[in-house]
Amino acid sequence: MKRDLIKKLTDISGRENVLISDEDRICYSFDATGRTGIPDIVVKPKVADDVSEIVKIAHKEGIPIVPRGAGTGFAGGSIPIHGGIALVMTDMNHLVDLDGENMIAVVEPGMVTYNFQQEVEKRGLFYPPDPASLKVCTIGGNAGTCAGGPRAIKYGVTRDYILGLDVVLPYGEMLHTGVRTAKGVVGYDLTRLMVGSEGTLGVITRLNVRLIPLPEAIKTALAVFKKIDDASNSISKIIASRILPSSLEFMDQAAIGCVENYIHAGLPRDAEAILLIEVDGDEISVERQIAKIGEICSHSGAGEVRIAKNDTEREFLWNARRAVSPALGHLAPTKINEDITVPRNRVPDIIRRLKQISEKYRLNIVNFGHAGDGNIHVNIMTDRRNEEEMKRADEAVGEIFKATLELKGTISGEHGIGITKSRYIKDELGETGIEVTKRIKRVFDPNNIMNPGKILDHM
Ligand SMILES: Cc1cc2nc3c(=O)[nH]c(=O)nc-3n(C[C@H](O)[C@H](O)[C@H](O)COP(=O)(O)OP(=O)(O)OC[C@H]3O[C@@H](n4cnc5c(N)ncnc54)[C@H](O)[C@@H]3O)c2cc1C
Repeated sequence: MKRDLIKKLTDISGRENVLISDEDRICYSFDATGRTGIPDIVVKPKVADDVSEIVKIAHKEGIPIVPRGAGTGFAGGSIPIHGGIALVMTDMNHLVDLDGENMIAVVEPGMVTYNFQQEVEKRGLFYPPDPASLKVCTIGGNAGTCAGGPRAIKYGVTRDYILGLDVVLPYGEMLHTGVRTAKGVVGYDLTRLMVGSEGTLGVITRLNVRLIPLPEAIKTALAVFKKIDDASNSISKIIASRILPSSLEFMDQAAIGCVENYIHAGLPRDAEAILLIEVDGDEISVERQIAKIGEICSHSGAGEVRIAKNDTEREFLWNARRAVSPALGHLAPTKINEDITVPRNRVPDIIRRLKQISEKYRLNIVNFGHAGDGNIHVNIMTDRRNEEEMKRADEAVGEIFKATLELKGTISGEHGIGITKSRYIKDELGETGIEVTKRIKRVFDPNNIMNPGKILDHM
């Protein structure tokens, strides 16, 4: 990058917040996909006005801007595939306001999701979206991807809690969207458009977040199944019983084995599947609901149903669930991770299809995820250096997406499109959907400087 540009950026953000060494740039060149793209420069702004000034320079010079939170994304959204400025938002991490009376928080995008949740829970309030990466990912990154998590089955996803945003647009001007009230319908819903736009329309610098009362009690159960079909059928039966769990998570045998090798959590290796089920609400109803769920699982073939007796046991079960993703790294060097979602009652169908695809392409596929909302994380474990296997994996991905769409599902429930799925989105959106998406992008960003190459691989 030219010296005068580096100087301009340093003048705005301060020398210590502008990184140009190879080592530093490499640190911001990848996300959880393991793919890479090295930025020309890394800038870590502290305030929204600086973001605006940086974007104005990028716009004038035609330099790509790549907004970045913690870089835990599973779609390559924060990878600077065309170089440019990696705009790292992690230093803008303050809780600006916590308005208990109106149950609204105002927060900067770099705040770690877990830290935000802890702060609001101290006031008896609740921010439900809980991606398994919550101890590292940022709330701005969550808005960028519209992150979900285990609690989505009952409480919805990030977009359901974002009331309004401050966004620096690709020309550098500041847009305020939405409201700081419980509701509001003035104009188009630009907040919803921004949430999940993966940094392609602007840089989020502040979020108005809706909070709800913290549930009084939680009960968690682990159900162990010898047969995977029994686990899939239990999911449908639990939902059909009119109990809405706050989480209903699924792990297949390969996922269980991985976790056991990784953290020795005491999960039964001989089980074909386990379900981790949680209910929340008032003390009496959670006791009744978890007992009923236990009965349903037992009648559907669960060999064992363990109910966590206290918070320590509950946290232990969740640690096992959250360990799946990192544990997979020990199985094979390359993980192709998809997060397809089907209507809940089609979970048994997609599980069967995934088994057939795994056999047909001779691939090791590990499945786990948020089965209660039909969101299955499908992990093809392979090795990038094995070209022949990678080709089979690529064909398998195409077939997995085809099966998902045939079952009236979606190719991404929460991870987003980034660079990993852009070639498939036409199959879901159709010609008109793609054309409208391109037009929207052109309205916001005609020079294509804001995270270019993401979602749409070309404009
Ligand atoms: C172990 C593990 C478990 C995970 N579990 C889940 C899960 O349960 N549910 C789930 O949904 N995801 C999950 N993820 C994926 C990931 O954590 C989420 O996508 C998360 O929202 C990314 O947040 P981040 O701060 O790391 O953002 P990044 O990865 O840095 O960025 C993600 C996207 O948001 C954009 N972005 C970031 N900040 C801003 C901003 N301020 N303004 C505009 N755009 C911005 C980026 O450009 C990029 O496109 C998991 C990842 C890992 C590694």
